[in-house]
Amino acid sequence: MESIEFYIKAGAIAEKARSLARSIAKPGEKMLAIAQKIESFITENGGRPAFPVNLSANERAAHYTPSINDESVIGDKDLLKIDIGVQVEGFIIDTSLTLDFSEENGKLLEASQNALESALSVMKSGASFRVVGGAIEEEIKKAGFKVIDNLNGHLIERYLLHAGVDLPNTPSSGNVLQEGQVFAVEPFATMGRGRVTEQNYCQIYSLFGGKVRGETAREVLSLAINDFQTLPFAKRWLTLPYSDLQIDLALGEIIKNGAGTSYPMLSDNGLVSQAETTVVIEKEGVKVLCNPKT
Ligand code: MN
Ligand code: MN
Repeated sequence: MESIEFYIKAGAIAEKARSLARSIAKPGEKMLAIAQKIESFITENGGRPAFPVNLSANERAAHYTPSINDESVIGDKDLLKIDIGVQVEGFIIDTSLTLDFSEENGKLLEASQNALESALSVMKSGASFRVVGGAIEEEIKKAGFKVIDNLNGHLIERYLLHAGVDLPNTPSSGNVLQEGQVFAVEPFATMGRGRVTEQNYCQIYSLFGGKVRGETAREVLSLAINDFQTLPFAKRWLTLPYSDLQIDLALGEIIKNGAGTSYPMLSDNGLVSQAETTVVIEKEGVKVLCNPKT
């Protein structure tokens, strides 16, 4: 198969996973059960999660995935971002949706959706990132909200979720889109200050290798490379016969030695909505790999 065929296959699975997420994520449901159901669904449908399902509510913008002991439930009035990654043979789709259980934040939700649509409408080979970021910022400001300016879209390559090029949500980069590139486009609209900060909660890691001394650290590192191919994973995915503390120490050693990255939860100080999909850049526009309305 050509790479585009893998992307199309992953996109179709991601669309179905979005529909499932919409139908099962309801107030009172356990966060852990929702994440696990979506992740299993991806596997049962011929893909693999490209990263753990993120369920970031309210002022949380990204990187909340439940721990194995997580007892938290979706709140009655939550504004819930569900961020889903699907990969087939390393070809990754990154997509998210926002659900407004309060039914009071429709404008904020629509602001990120409209910003995504507006961005997609100006993206094509040769278009400046400035134009894309400008379109996103304009939609969100017009609706009376702020853009989160330290969260970006990103280039995707095989087995690389963040392939080294950011696509800012503001007109701040002079880069130019190139035909054949794959980008995740992900505007965030916020009622807060427009800047996320790292929180003291971390369940997501990606490990890519390097020298570590400890026996447990070596074991965690080789398992992550074998099972997750350097893509982000959840601590709850590690099926190793060690205590939480031992795993934390091992991960700490790995990160300290530069053999991996941690992804702490990111929050703003007000409600946040997000819309995201993955596209291929074409001569006259983009091919949307996963319909962000599913
Ligand atoms: Mn995402
Ligand atoms: Mn993304």
